[in-house]
Amino acid sequence: MYSIGQIHFEPTQLCQASCPMCDRNKNGGEVNQYLKDESMSYDQFVKAFSPEFLKGLHTFYMCGNHGDPILAPDMLEICEYIRECNSKINLQVITNGGARKVEWWEKLAKIVTFVNFSVDGLQDTNHLYRQGVRWQNVEENMAAFCDAGGRAKWTFIVFNYNEHQVEQARIFSKILGVDEFIIKKSGRYVYSADLKKRDQHQAVDRKGNATQLLTQPKDPKYRNKAIDSDYGKIVDKFGTLDNFIDVAEIQPKCVKKKEIYVSAEGLVFPCCWLAGQVYKWWRPMKDSQEYQMIMDNGGFESININITPLEEIVNGKFFKSIENSWNIHGVAQGRLKTCGNKCNKGWDPFMAQWK
Ligand code: SF4
Ligand code: SF4
Repeated sequence: MYSIGQIHFEPTQLCQASCPMCDRNKNGGEVNQYLKDESMSYDQFVKAFSPEFLKGLHTFYMCGNHGDPILAPDMLEICEYIRECNSKINLQVITNGGARKVEWWEKLAKIVTFVNFSVDGLQDTNHLYRQGVRWQNVEENMAAFCDAGGRAKWTFIVFNYNEHQVEQARIFSKILGVDEFIIKKSGRYVYSADLKKRDQHQAVDRKGNATQLLTQPKDPKYRNKAIDSDYGKIVDKFGTLDNFIDVAEIQPKCVKKKEIYVSAEGLVFPCCWLAGQVYKWWRPMKDSQEYQMIMDNGGFESININITPLEEIVNGKFFKSIENSWNIHGVAQGRLKTCGNKCNKGWDPFMAQWK
């Protein structure tokens, strides 16, 4: 496999929020049945990641598929350990910002390189997507973090109901002391279940009652170009996105970035996208190609960093068969659909989020 320069780490599956397009829950409602509220402890982390290994990395970022890093019980201690092992490492945290006390944020500010706050609106709109996040906590925590010398970014997903607030939020971010304000144009209007485009998404609450109808912003400058125009061109040419994915050239982002992903349960994958496929709440776990590939190549223990050394995992059979699948034409023939979808040459709603 490839050499590793950066890690994407999910410290926990816990989160106080229920965002409707997040796999943690079913459209913002019931929690994903495959989650066990796992968190990696400080002791597990130290055992899994040696000082020598951490010294060799340039970046370590904490985000994940199903949880918010700040909810991990040992989060601060883990960050301190990483910083002690590598004083120069680019240590990043991506969070909704709505949990923990200001004192905790003041401590974090002295350790990490930056925190990226995911805040999609202002006081009257942020909770429409970030369901369950209290605005007052976000504001106090961002201010405390910045006042304590922490470097912050604010990422704002634009919807139709908050597009009029983008400039106001940008100004407010400056007042708080945020270093960078980033507009995110969501690429999640093509659904992973059927690869079909839908321009809206109905959010629900924990009881399944309809809440906000999420729709794309009207202003073209806030819309994702891959969803808006490239998707249609691909479908015109290939008939369906599935047909395109069968034959598209794969340009693996994991290889380019020299990155691996480690989940809260300790499972190691080349990226969060492959990991996420195993936990899709709308199908049995065993129905994913990724699940089958794990079972065919040693099982879950063979890719669990709490059981198997990291080097053995990335040089092992599972990683090798992922790599082999990139040269296969056709998902039915063994190409991983996720790789064809996320890392093809020609259609990239992920990168288009930032353009
Ligand atoms: S804050 Fe993050 S982990 Fe929590 S529900 Fe929202 S997207 Fe998912
Ligand atoms: S989707 Fe496949 S090719 Fe892309 S980063 Fe993940 S493992 Fe690599």
